[in-house]
Amino acid sequence: MKTQAESVKYINAMEGTFVDFDLAYGCQCYDVANKYWYYVTGRKLYGLYAKDIPTDNNFKGYAKVYENTTSFLPLPGDLVVWNGNYGEGCGHVAVVTQATLSQFQVIENNWLGGGWVNGKPGWEKATRRWHTFDFPMWFIRPHYAKSTSVVKKVASKVTIVTKPKTTVTKKKFVLVAGHGYNDPGAVGNGTNERDFIRTNIIYNAAKYLRSAGHIVTLYDKKQDMYQDTAYGYNRGDTKKYGLYWVKNKLKPNAVIEFHLDSAGASASGGHVIKNAYAADNIDKGIQKALEDTVGTIRGITTRNDLLNVNVAYSQNINYRLVELGFITSKKDMDYIKNNLQDFTKRMAEGIHGKPIGGTPAGKSKKITWAWKGRFTPNTKIKVRKSPGLKGVIVDKDSWLKDKSDWVDFVSVTKKDGYWWIKFKYPTNPKAGYFYCAVCKITDKKERIKHEKAFYGKLTWE
Ligand SMILES: [Zn+2]
Repeated sequence: MKTQAESVKYINAMEGTFVDFDLAYGCQCYDVANKYWYYVTGRKLYGLYAKDIPTDNNFKGYAKVYENTTSFLPLPGDLVVWNGNYGEGCGHVAVVTQATLSQFQVIENNWLGGGWVNGKPGWEKATRRWHTFDFPMWFIRPHYAKSTSVVKKVASKVTIVTKPKTTVTKKKFVLVAGHGYNDPGAVGNGTNERDFIRTNIIYNAAKYLRSAGHIVTLYDKKQDMYQDTAYGYNRGDTKKYGLYWVKNKLKPNAVIEFHLDSAGASASGGHVIKNAYAADNIDKGIQKALEDTVGTIRGITTRNDLLNVNVAYSQNINYRLVELGFITSKKDMDYIKNNLQDFTKRMAEGIHGKPIGGTPAGKSKKITWAWKGRFTPNTKIKVRKSPGLKGVIVDKDSWLKDKSDWVDFVSVTKKDGYWWIKFKYPTNPKAGYFYCAVCKITDKKERIKHEKAFYGKLTWE
């Protein structure tokens, strides 16, 4: 067996070459996989169709087959096998070179059908390409040889190899999907709270939290934590049902219950609901994640008229109820559906307290400064719920139009080629923070204080 590092190096070197391992039918997907597998394990893969590789081969003792799940993360060097919906019924196979929880990169043959054309070897070389996950899908991981550096260290007994210190503190989270049983919750835009949150939100949020090292339990299926808690509450049983059960059985660090709000079609944005305990970092993290994505309709809100909120208070459970946006708002629902992975990842990051899975290049750069001032527009400017061109745009009636619409801003953000200010409407501060562009970035060093062509008058505090 080769080491993982040797294996990954070998597959990466195959990119851009014609790989016809069995010298039959040109460059089939099987050829890349087999050439790689032979190098790594000294064995060949058997079976007529790629889709049957997991079942037609005995991997016992030298490799392990993993069936894909929403939380499975492939590693570089894994074989990946597609089902019979691909490759005209034959499936497909490739070798993973890198992966995240939402996609993975491979080196592969014949994805485009150019491996064997008109009875002759075709034009398609081994290619590096990104793919998304599917079900069912299988990943096969060799039992690699230990890396030589580790073997050397152990053999010479010079160094005791210790795991690097990890900064992640493993926590136990319970994610609760609102409503359940016969209660669908609020209805809108062709769905309801109960089903939409179960299908889309909590599995994805859990996937990201697990990838950050946490233990996540879902309170979902057909159950309704509200009805379960109420059952215990009414019987005076503070152990066995609903949120009581969660506390006693799961002993979580935090409980997060997800809902969607309901109102007229124009109401939009999410918010976090708390009991009388002060908002903690999880509350603030989720609220911030909402602010940066779907937008917020109000700040973190204390309530004492909701059962689980009150039980959490009396039982001293770290709990919050999150309204993710309005199910009755097409804007909110379109945003969540179109940005589902990013949206649920941001919620998970709000809970986790920092970015998950590394920070994409450039994103760690500071883009917001807490510089305050007053802005008086001299033209019509769109107002958004978050800074940047992707921010959800509010109704036209609320855009800034002329100098009567001055606003005091609390920070400036550099994004998408514009400077954005963060402000509350002086006439309606309860509506929370909004954003608008105040100028295009033209200064070569991107300094706002050197810009001249503002869409109005900007004075610093
Ligand atoms: Zn609800």
